[in-house]
Amino acid sequence: MKKINIAIDGYSACGKSSTAKRVAQRLGYIYIDSGAMYRAVTLYLQHHLIDIDNLEGIAQALPQIQIDFRKAGEVFHTFLNGVDVEQEIRQPAVAAQVSEVAAMSNVRRMLVEQQQKMAAQKGVVMEGRDIGSVVMPDAELKFFMTADVDVRTKRRQDELLKKSGKLFPLEELKANLQHRDRIDSTREDSPLTRVPDAIEIDTTHITLEEQIQLICDKAMALIKQAD
Ligand code: C5P
Repeated sequence: MKKINIAIDGYSACGKSSTAKRVAQRLGYIYIDSGAMYRAVTLYLQHHLIDIDNLEGIAQALPQIQIDFRKAGEVFHTFLNGVDVEQEIRQPAVAAQVSEVAAMSNVRRMLVEQQQKMAAQKGVVMEGRDIGSVVMPDAELKFFMTADVDVRTKRRQDELLKKSGKLFPLEELKANLQHRDRIDSTREDSPLTRVPDAIEIDTTHITLEEQIQLICDKAMALIKQAD
């Protein structure tokens, strides 16, 4: 069967990761979480006490950063220089700085190059902010996910509780989502935008299963058509 690439972009905490992961599982495709790569770079800078205003320090650090995804049981985890950082990159301390780091052109250049190499093999479901516009402009299917900010905040709280056992205050989480959305949408280099050929999915009132089904149906129709 012919393989296609699927790009999923959208605001923070719209359910992009959960959706993309399961779509990839059902289609037997590779799932790539591009946000995890920006988070891993941010974590590296924090570990090495490199301030985000220290542009020279960041430029020198980038060649030292190696990010890959490795299988950990049933799922893939993010590895930073050989260490599993899957838990750590999801912490609020990383979320607080990641959008500033992701706005830097040299960081984007390095990560986009790696993402494009991963996508070259086809059969990839990649999610992020610039996937349909910059990383995979030729993707056969593109989606743009949105949802009400309060619904997104609650979902993020539940997700963090499940993952770390900690209940983070809703106001703190909402402020972070809005902060990231603002920087992600207004930065100069590859801002988050809905490309004209992306199908918009508002996930406020639909379930995860419905989102997954919608994307899988469109993908299957396209795959069959191409065969
Ligand atoms: O998707 P996630 O919320 O984990 O992404 C974390 C941050 O990484 C986003 O808020 C955004 O600043 C950045 N990002 C990006 N481009 C991508 C994916 C993520 O700028 N393709």
